[in-house]
Amino acid sequence: MLQQTQVKTVIPYFNKFTKKFKTINALSKSNEKEILKMWEGLGYYRRARNLLACSKILVQNYKCKLPRSIIEIKKLPGVGDYTANALLGLVYNEPRIAVDGNVKRVFSRYLNIEEIKINFNEFIKKNKKRLFITKRNDDFVEALMEFGALICKPKDPNCFTCCLNKTCKYFKSNNKIKNIRNKMIKNKNYDIFCYINKKKQIALTKSNQISFLKNFNLPEVKETKSFLKNQNWIFLKKYKNSISNLKLNINLYYKFSNKIPKTYNWYSLKDNRDFVPSFTKKIFRQVSTLF
Ligand code: SF4
Repeated sequence: MLQQTQVKTVIPYFNKFTKKFKTINALSKSNEKEILKMWEGLGYYRRARNLLACSKILVQNYKCKLPRSIIEIKKLPGVGDYTANALLGLVYNEPRIAVDGNVKRVFSRYLNIEEIKINFNEFIKKNKKRLFITKRNDDFVEALMEFGALICKPKDPNCFTCCLNKTCKYFKSNNKIKNIRNKMIKNKNYDIFCYINKKKQIALTKSNQISFLKNFNLPEVKETKSFLKNQNWIFLKKYKNSISNLKLNINLYYKFSNKIPKTYNWYSLKDNRDFVPSFTKKIFRQVSTLF
């Protein structure tokens, strides 16, 4: 849940989720519809799907236990190097470091070498004996991440109170490195076409082929083509929506109709038991202003 999402946003979701699913076995008996509904508003829904898929694999193949080998762990859906190392450290107390943006920044500053010039895997291997000096490897994994988030922060690190400042090359140097991590923001323009009816319903389909919208219930979404006129559709509103590193400029169109294409189903604009991602909810809000 915490990948790409702030702690304060995650807390209520985490509490609700762990209250409902107290064991991996309980989670494995759930289904995608239920999990997505609980995840609604948190975004990056692939995480929820992967979590459910992982629980089913763990129950079926591993007697509900996390495998101990990194190769086996990385076969689980959505688990890459970072998560695998974090799990082995946190669950099995193995000497591991989960190298995320925070941890990279800490090492890079401590050595006063730019991140892109460090091979972190090599660095950890080479310095194993100096890094893992206690038996509390589980705490160390967590502590490093927290240290990067709270002390050696992206902006204004707390160097004067930092316990590493006596040996930190960044702190001592007159020629401090600059680590600029610019997220590449992409602007995209989309037209969205909504069928609505007098019962305050909107027609949604899962047939959109745009990568980040695949498998979601939505009206038709098309990349804006400036030369095309969207005849037969009434323009409602222009607005912005951000998804990850995408900035979307949206033109929303509608038409009242009782006939909809076969792949569409009607949904209430107000009252939905099914999972509705924030992107779709925003469309609902705009269209609701028509009633
Ligand atoms: S002294 Fe400053 S730069 Fe060095 S590790 Fe501590 S907080 Fe980071």
